[in-house]
Amino acid sequence: MDKLKEFKELIEKMNSFNKAVSLFHWDMATEAPKKSVADKADVIGMLDTEAFNILTSDKMKECLETLEKTIEDLNEVDAKLVEFYRKEYDKNAKIPEDEYKEFSILAAKSTAVWEEAKGKSNFDLYKPYLEKIVEYKKKFVNYRGYEKHPYNTLLDDFEPGMTVEKLDKFFDTLKKDIVPLLNNINQSNKIINDKFVRFIYPKEGQKEFSDYLLGKIGYDKERGIIKESEHPFTLELSTNDVRITTHYYENYLLSAVYSTIHEGGHAIYEQNIDENLIGTTLDTGTSMGIHESQSRFYENVIGRSLGFWKVNFHKLQKIFKEQLQDVTVEQMYEAANIVKPSLIRIEADELTYALHIMVRYEIEKQLINGDIEVKDLPTIWNKLMSNYLGVIPTNDAEGVLQDIHWSDGSFGYFPSYALGNAYAAQFLATMNKEFDVDKCMENDELDTIKNWLNDKIHKYGRLLEPNEIIKNVTGEELNAKYLVEYLKQKYENIYNLN
Ligand code: ZN
Repeated sequence: MDKLKEFKELIEKMNSFNKAVSLFHWDMATEAPKKSVADKADVIGMLDTEAFNILTSDKMKECLETLEKTIEDLNEVDAKLVEFYRKEYDKNAKIPEDEYKEFSILAAKSTAVWEEAKGKSNFDLYKPYLEKIVEYKKKFVNYRGYEKHPYNTLLDDFEPGMTVEKLDKFFDTLKKDIVPLLNNINQSNKIINDKFVRFIYPKEGQKEFSDYLLGKIGYDKERGIIKESEHPFTLELSTNDVRITTHYYENYLLSAVYSTIHEGGHAIYEQNIDENLIGTTLDTGTSMGIHESQSRFYENVIGRSLGFWKVNFHKLQKIFKEQLQDVTVEQMYEAANIVKPSLIRIEADELTYALHIMVRYEIEKQLINGDIEVKDLPTIWNKLMSNYLGVIPTNDAEGVLQDIHWSDGSFGYFPSYALGNAYAAQFLATMNKEFDVDKCMENDELDTIKNWLNDKIHKYGRLLEPNEIIKNVTGEELNAKYLVEYLKQKYENIYNLN
């Protein structure tokens, strides 16, 4: 049988299992009854293992070996596909099947336990699960091997090419500039009134505005759907089926506004991948960091700009006449950009966000290296929060238990959020050389921005690696200075620090 055809059939089969798993996740997060979670963990574990077995099969190995011999005869997409699966194969084939399956079931269960533990603010409930998860991750890293630092292997899963060495340098630059800027803001006389965003805003009106926003930014509703979940997320089944969720808080207007734009940004990336890549595994975002750069570009650069509010505030005011009748566009803009060191990452402002990520980065790095233990996490967490943000949680629900990521073993994921902010700022600097981005937003010409992102980033899917995208688009490697400059310019202005 033609090896390329066989290879593609394997991929198609594997992707079918993966899509089934994704649909289960979607269902569990949106519609499924709470008590059904435990039975679903077993089904997910089973499906996930089927996909794993195909990936690590002898057939896959044979296909890769044969195709690699004549790789120069393959077209660009097929050659990249071989390269992609070679990496995936090498990564996973070293893990024993039974251990993978145990881990997969454990991860699904541990997520449910995490939710309960967070609800009760009880770390002890979660601790034995997290200990096992960390144990597996460490074991898997050892099977897979690593260079220099064991955490590098996990970073590479989310951001190919990223290392502890690069991240230490990156976070040092941010720390050096953001912490003093934060101090200046804390000491400034400027008082921003954001009381009005905490009035009561009925869900129906918020839904209407979310829907309006998605249309504005260019999310294709005929190839997507929006639902509600505890934590907003985007799920792509294919370029033609990119779903998002949001969460409406009636006593906090901005939560759904920004989570909708954020997830919309992720979705726009997925919906605009080149047609040639549809159906291959390359038809998705290239890394978590680049993905976050797109969601954050929409959320922060566009959604938190003055131009954006100048265009869209009247619509919001029309929906919530009573709550917003005395509020001006400038007040809305300032309320959307208020800086306040807080305990919860997902509620953090654009400036202090990176500091939340640094707390997690420090912990993950040391946990995977064996320098610290799970049982000490609540204490370490609180100490780092105090050091970086100057705030200390009074319970673990608002501290170490707040994020879902560790419960399914997603160590190495958090840095992508900070990288996303940095990439976004770097893209913005390049975009501004070609046209005036602020003007575009003020003139309600978001299409110009979207087309640029489609053309320079989205269409490539996984055909290009994250560092290739950054280099091709901006002419240089990741450079934290663009984020620092962007934040300084924005916040010195808002807080009258010049
Ligand atoms: Zn995101």
